[in-house]
Amino acid sequence: MPKPLKNLALAISLGTWASLTQAADANSWRDLEPLIARALPNAIALRHEIHRHPELSNREFHTSERIAKRLRELGLEVRTGIAHTGVIGLLKGGKPGPVVAIRAELDALPLTEATGLTYASTVRADHVGNDFRQQGKQVGVMHACGHDAHMAMALGVAEVLAAHRDELPGTLKLIFQPAEEGPPLGERGGAALMIEEGALENPKPAVIFGLHVTAGKAGAFTLSRNRTTAAADTFVARIRGRQTHAAFPWTGIDPVPVAAQVILAWQTIPSRQSNLSVLPAPVISVGRIEGGDRHNVIPAAVRLEGSIRTVSDEQREDVLARMRRTAEKIAEASGATAHVEYLPGNYRAGYNDSALVDRILPILERASGAPPTLDNGTYGADDFAEYARQVPAVFMRMGVAPPALAGKDVWPTHSPGFQVDDAALVTGIQALTRMTLDQMGVSVK
Ligand SMILES: [Zn+2]
Ligand SMILES: [Zn+2]
Repeated sequence: MPKPLKNLALAISLGTWASLTQAADANSWRDLEPLIARALPNAIALRHEIHRHPELSNREFHTSERIAKRLRELGLEVRTGIAHTGVIGLLKGGKPGPVVAIRAELDALPLTEATGLTYASTVRADHVGNDFRQQGKQVGVMHACGHDAHMAMALGVAEVLAAHRDELPGTLKLIFQPAEEGPPLGERGGAALMIEEGALENPKPAVIFGLHVTAGKAGAFTLSRNRTTAAADTFVARIRGRQTHAAFPWTGIDPVPVAAQVILAWQTIPSRQSNLSVLPAPVISVGRIEGGDRHNVIPAAVRLEGSIRTVSDEQREDVLARMRRTAEKIAEASGATAHVEYLPGNYRAGYNDSALVDRILPILERASGAPPTLDNGTYGADDFAEYARQVPAVFMRMGVAPPALAGKDVWPTHSPGFQVDDAALVTGIQALTRMTLDQMGVSVK
């Protein structure tokens, strides 16, 4: 036997075959940077195209087709039509290994874009949303939550990993879900329906990652070890009195001061009734007050609408019960009645897997060039929480404010001036690719 072969036989006999093959794997990914550099222009071009053609929740027909087409071009196995317009792409590596999932969202918001960008949206559509007052109106449509960036980054990761798919020890599962912003009135949709329709089965992911862009510093990550996003519930409260002349209020029951008392008393739930040493306080915001027709008529009723943010299932139940009790008892004190209704919500509180967070912190630092900021989570809500309740998950936020806007008032997400710095996409693709490879046991320098 020639000497090199003899050495090889010896190596195998010593049981080092596994480490030899692993070394070969790592070689395939040694050139990660050029692969990402090659994928970036495609990701940017796709984001611009999707940004120009935004679609509302559960109506993401063209977006979904476009994503499926790109996934097929990259050689992924594609499933469509999940939870209405959802798409799943599977990149099965040539070697056995874990399934790593990344979630991206398909939907845009009913906002008229005011960025002035060359690829700005001019799309208008019939409003779909969960507010009956808006139904049927024509509205501008805009990717104001950055979901176009999420789709582009997910496809960037797929392009990079598909380059050496034969060497990939595992499966990348890309989940493109509709209706993160909430399904239209009377419809279901979003993460919960995706899961119901099998998004986390066949194959079941070992972990799932969700990256959401924000108007923060481009390429800077923020995440939390445990609590990430809040539960969001919408309420409608109807306070009924008895209509009368404004000059003789004692002849009726005035619901206006009752509503005022209720609104102020609700604020004592966070400030006086919540144990702030255990959990962050809930947030109760009244966003709409409606009542009365004339200056000199005391109305029969006042209607309040608002949003409640809570940070755990227990706090959520507790706050809803306290709000109802507070409104009912205050109304009763004046001879009025109060009825508080909670509308079915799409968002429960979300949590990160702390061990997984610790695992990815150095990867985020490597991708971003700066250590990520750890915080206590956000009062923003995201239905990514539903996946995180099934599979170990990390939801992280990444700033994408264009550096040219530094020092100026930067428009936040959900505003008509929200902008994404194209160059920041590279940081997101870097981070997600490295996190995926890390889960598959491939070390990349
Ligand atoms: Zn949003
Ligand atoms: Zn969003």
